[in-house]
Amino acid sequence: MLQLRPNCECCDRDLPPESLEARICTFECTFCAGCAESRFAGICPNCGGDLARRPVRPAALLVKYPASRERVVKAHAACAGSA
Ligand SMILES: [Zn+2]
Ligand SMILES: [Zn+2]
Repeated sequence: MLQLRPNCECCDRDLPPESLEARICTFECTFCAGCAESRFAGICPNCGGDLARRPVRPAALLVKYPASRERVVKAHAACAGSA
């Protein structure tokens, strides 16, 4: 099951489960659309895989299968120092 992480790993912007701005790679590295496009050109800086729009989990199912609340933030070459 997808973790649905709550923020962009690069700029730490909030990405709630219903956000259409969330982008993830196959390992669920999570970024906002702005970072994914302008900083990483659609390629995950951690693993080199492609970033795709994160599917939205229907609200009714979030009750039973809640989103992760663990914020993940890392420094990447393309965003380090800009936060
Ligand atoms: Zn971001
Ligand atoms: Zn990745």
